[in-house]
Amino acid sequence: MEPIKTEIVVVGGGPGGYTAAFYAADLGKKVILIERDKRLGGVCLNRGCIPSKALLNAAHTISAARESAHRGIVFEAPKIDTNQLRAWKESIVAKLCGGIGMLAQKRNVHVIHGRAHFEGSNSLRVETEQGQQFVNYEHAIIATGSKPAMPKAFDLGNPRIMTSTEALETEDIPENLLIVGGGYIGMELGTVYATLGSKVVMVEALDSILLGADADLVRPVMAYAKKNFKEVRLKSKVLKMSTSGKQIKVESEFEGQKKEELYDRVLVAVGRVPNGDNLGLESTKVQKDEKGFIKVDSNQRTSDPSIYAIGDIAGGILLAHKAFREGRIAVDTIMGEIGTADKYVIPAVVFTDPELAWCGLTEAQAKAEGVDIEVAKFPWGASGRALTLDRPDGLTKLIICAKTERILGVGIVGVGAGELIAEGALAVEMGVTAKDLSLTVHPHPTLSETVMEAAEVFYGHATHTLSKKRAE
Ligand SMILES: Cc1cc2nc3c(=O)[nH]c(=O)nc-3n(C[C@H](O)[C@H](O)[C@H](O)COP(=O)(O)OP(=O)(O)OC[C@H]3O[C@@H](n4cnc5c(N)ncnc54)[C@H](O)[C@@H]3O)c2cc1C
Repeated sequence: MEPIKTEIVVVGGGPGGYTAAFYAADLGKKVILIERDKRLGGVCLNRGCIPSKALLNAAHTISAARESAHRGIVFEAPKIDTNQLRAWKESIVAKLCGGIGMLAQKRNVHVIHGRAHFEGSNSLRVETEQGQQFVNYEHAIIATGSKPAMPKAFDLGNPRIMTSTEALETEDIPENLLIVGGGYIGMELGTVYATLGSKVVMVEALDSILLGADADLVRPVMAYAKKNFKEVRLKSKVLKMSTSGKQIKVESEFEGQKKEELYDRVLVAVGRVPNGDNLGLESTKVQKDEKGFIKVDSNQRTSDPSIYAIGDIAGGILLAHKAFREGRIAVDTIMGEIGTADKYVIPAVVFTDPELAWCGLTEAQAKAEGVDIEVAKFPWGASGRALTLDRPDGLTKLIICAKTERILGVGIVGVGAGELIAEGALAVEMGVTAKDLSLTVHPHPTLSETVMEAAEVFYGHATHTLSKKRAE
């Protein structure tokens, strides 16, 4: 078959890949998008962000009903039909993936479903169900993403040992579930299963869950986990797993003692590894780091002048919105707009209950890097909106440059923190000062006021809480 010629080929149809393909097509480029799955959308739509948030929302309905008894509203215990729950979640995924396919078609992005394999710096082969297809291109953007890490010691081929992909299928609600790893994926899925009724034990090797967030913001999330999970074990390690009838025998270490326990299912959530193997990159000049992520510069250029890499495969923070941004940077760079890749803010959100979100500099980072900061905090116990929502367990925190009063970082824990952090990201990105935030009228009663009032705390005159007068 004759090779197809194109200006840009994008390998991988996840958030990074489809964003890059759509943006390049919108700018008038001839684009081919290659995806090995039957559907576009990548991990995020098919087995990541979207299905997990659908399940978290379903779980939230249950906890909201449970927590309303003290307001005099009592519901019966929920009856959970996992088949219907799965079908509802799948309907959302199908709708979104179908939408991405339709948008590709309308933009004249030529989608090829198959596995791409580079044959050189300007050519690749796609293994499709109909046979091989060759593509010659001027520029390639690699967006092949990542997959769950599964340490060899846990990889018994037993379906009861799950990664996030299987856990999102909610095949059943195990009575006893062990979660290995207290990162955001483990915490979110732990929240789902604990609310659906599993007795969840979480084991984390480090001395805290949710690495990267400030300790005071993690505290309310940890309090939730301690109340709703059966147990959270920090500084604990799983050593070995083996099959024991219909269960998994788990040997672990905790507080200097060896434990041997049986679980109905185990979720291994210990990180993600790049999809960089079997791509034929040895036929190109692309280089990978020691973990297998593709090395890129701040414009997403690899060591091969024709090839770019974006999203999870390019390492760094493995989040969909980082992939979205990098897709645009790669295309802008191809178009000659190489001034767009300034350092930018990537907010992080953990969709637990309460949610935890932060952006820019954290307090811990500032201390480690010796940055002269001041911290202003507004506790949600003083927020009218938080009280009407019956959720005063939040905190809004600003990290402020002591000299310029610029907002360097924002951290929020509480319901809806994932939505609220967008204002923080804008503040850090635009270099606004605490004064700007305090002078911006925020609607009442909303949780967004906590951002304004945290800025007022900095100046010592927050209305709804007492704060120390700031020295002029
Ligand atoms: C449970 C879970 C929850 C998450 N929740 C969030 C969240 O709330 N917010 C957030 O921002 N991020 C979240 N993430 C992370 C997010 O899903 C990823 O960061 C994002 O999907 C990365 O996008 P990407 O385009 O780089 O790669 P991917 O989404 O991994 O897509 C890569 C695509 O490339 C395809 N591919 C791979 N190799 C080839 C090949 N050789 N040929 C053709 N196609 C190929 C794959 O099939 C895949 O479709 C979550 C992840 C998980 C697992």
